[in-house]
Amino acid sequence: MQLKQVGEFRLIDIITRQTARYHPSVIQAIGDDSAVVKMDIKECLLITTDILKEGIHFQQEYTSPYLLGKKCISINLSDIAAMGGTPLYYLVSLIVPASTPSEFVKKLYRGMNTQAKNFKISLLGGDTIASQDGISIAITLLGKAAKNHVIYRRGARKRDLVCVTGFIGDSALGLLMLEKKHFKFNRNSLIRKHLDPIPRIEEAKKISRLRIASSMIDISDGLISDLRHILSQSKVGARIQLSSLPLSRQYKKYCSDLSQEFYQPALSGGEDYELIFTMNPRNRLKLEKLFKKLSTPVTCIGEITENPEELIVLDKNGRHISIEKEGYTHF
Ligand code: ADP
Ligand code: MG
Repeated sequence: MQLKQVGEFRLIDIITRQTARYHPSVIQAIGDDSAVVKMDIKECLLITTDILKEGIHFQQEYTSPYLLGKKCISINLSDIAAMGGTPLYYLVSLIVPASTPSEFVKKLYRGMNTQAKNFKISLLGGDTIASQDGISIAITLLGKAAKNHVIYRRGARKRDLVCVTGFIGDSALGLLMLEKKHFKFNRNSLIRKHLDPIPRIEEAKKISRLRIASSMIDISDGLISDLRHILSQSKVGARIQLSSLPLSRQYKKYCSDLSQEFYQPALSGGEDYELIFTMNPRNRLKLEKLFKKLSTPVTCIGEITENPEELIVLDKNGRHISIEKEGYTHF
């Protein structure tokens, strides 16, 4: 069977099932945003890796090497954020055609350095090889967290609230603008969100230290698709209210020009790198108090139900909405 018939998530399942754990320090291997390894009695090491490939994740026509460098660090930071961790070190593997101008690589690293400075992380090393087909950048990022502060995908419980940080769907609309060559909107916040997402490290650290969340994931593939990972790992369902989705002013202004379905980019557009988390409703006041001090909004969009993996999306009249495409998958 070919990978396109197996699908990305089933492929990862197959890999997981044929893999044994040989070292006793492994707390979480495949299956969450970062792997978790016990360091000592209190602390854990978090490890994550993500690839950006030309033609799949970016086009040189739409972005600059500087922003690309920033983004490849940001998307890895987002996976450390999703565990409630503090990022520490990273490694970079570059696969680049021999014809690439060396200036491109310099600018790429300038972008990475900016994000490294912003988040106080250090480059440890990497690898470089020639490519026959476009540029790929693979980053491995290491972080740490107190063992009892790590937030997994598997902790959601019946009646928990489902919350998201920031606005969703902006990145997908930004990409549509770039694809439709709306370059005149270069300063538009939708395009900015796509090219230069902000990882929610600070928000996540506070959520984890105050023990607000029962589960958490970042949105890389799409709200519905990523929420499904929480549901399947927690063996619960969810009911989401369409009217509660946090949509930005720019989303409301441009969505109908770019997408046939008004809610589709918010429900299944990827790469917002916002956080979805669940929490016991008794933490609501604590959450509101915390986010009052932060510049990022937070919104409760629904609740967890007991039916395993049943995901219901309701419109403002209480009608069920069916979703054709739930998010991005590679095969
Ligand atoms: P995320 O979107 O948070 O980066 P992914 O969907 O890429 O997560 O991966 C889900 C899980 O599968 C992670 O634990 C990741 O480490 C693991 N994974 C993905 N691809 C592979 C692979 N080829 N081999 C082993 N583990 C993998
Ligand atoms: Mg993730």
